[in-house]
Amino acid sequence: MDETLIENVGKDSTLQSQQLKELYESLIELREKVETQQRDVVKLREENAQLKRENNQLKRLPLFVAVVIEKLPDGEVYLRQQGNNQEYITQVSDDLYPLLKAGTKVAVNNALSIIKVIGTTYDARVRVMELETSPSATFEQVGGLKEEIEEVREAVEYPITRPEVYARLGVEPPKGILLYGPPGTGKTLIAKAVAHNASATFIRMSGSELVHKFIGEGAQLVRELFELARERAPSIVFIDEIDAVGSTRTHDGTSGSAEVQRTLMQLLAEMDGFDNRGDIRIMAATNRPDMLDPALLRPGRFDRIIEIPFPDAASRTEILRIHTRNLSLGDITLASIVSRTEGATGAELEAICREAGMIAVRESATSIEEEHFDAAIRKVRHEMPEQDVRMYL
Ligand code: ATP
Repeated sequence: MDETLIENVGKDSTLQSQQLKELYESLIELREKVETQQRDVVKLREENAQLKRENNQLKRLPLFVAVVIEKLPDGEVYLRQQGNNQEYITQVSDDLYPLLKAGTKVAVNNALSIIKVIGTTYDARVRVMELETSPSATFEQVGGLKEEIEEVREAVEYPITRPEVYARLGVEPPKGILLYGPPGTGKTLIAKAVAHNASATFIRMSGSELVHKFIGEGAQLVRELFELARERAPSIVFIDEIDAVGSTRTHDGTSGSAEVQRTLMQLLAEMDGFDNRGDIRIMAATNRPDMLDPALLRPGRFDRIIEIPFPDAASRTEILRIHTRNLSLGDITLASIVSRTEGATGAELEAICREAGMIAVRESATSIEEEHFDAAIRKVRHEMPEQDVRMYL
């Protein structure tokens, strides 16, 4: 009897340990399953959050862009919506109100409440404008053009630096001045030097870029150009290649020309709204004065027109002296270079000096000699050396 009992007990314990082992294994399996499911839950929660965000994004209505025209008391602002030019007054939250000023761009919802500040319109302006607070160019860097420079200074610089003289004598300085002449004769250089002397901000806008790159935005950019000039006064606005916006030929009735026409109208409107004696002076440059719309040249607009011609021999000598100032010249006279550069512009003369220097560097010469200038003149002015010319004869 005792033996049977012992045998059974032995059997039971083997059975129990077998069952325990099985239970333990299924426990581990279950734990792994739970962990996998927990990971799935986290993943699904993330997906859910992402879908909710996307859903909200899709449900949100688009915002309109408006510009603050004026800040009114008691937390109100006067806005103008871009595109349709609708104007309205709206109440602003206390946290946004201090961030706003005239010209700030804001996003408004359907109920015309300001949702956020987009920033000033500055970003759009810098795309097309070059701005220098006080350019480093001076009149010492301009060769020749003495009379022209004096005329420009009278019309642009002195009204800023000595307004009292004009006021005392009752003289109205010209509102805008137009420089015309071949490319590279120093028009931009003169405008920058005037800005330097008057300690004024120099703002340059290119007419052709305005028309080709910013289709549909021309009038707005002209508005912003003058806004910026007012903010940064005293300032000199320099519109290069003005023929691109102010040419008679472009008014041919197509939609592109209508856009150019709108840009021109905006420019004329801005000029008409200006005080002649103010500290914002307007300059423009063109290579084609014959193509300009007469509306631009009427009194009160670009009413002083100054020709910047090709430099004569004396001016070429001065220009060469300026651009060879820092060069280590050998035994050469500027007169021989002057006589061989008839009809060259200031920009070409500058390029000749630079190129002569580069050729000398290439040859590791100790100084820049006549032959370096010879080669440079040929390269810049696309002249062929004599033996090459003989080859073609
Ligand atoms: P564009 O019509 O192409 O705009 P521009 O007449 O405005 O030409 P600038 O840009 O002023 O010409 O000239 C280009 C460069 O040529 C100047 O930076 C300057 O180095 C040189 N240059 C032109 N004219 C003169 C000059 N009279 N004296 C000295 N340097 C000159």
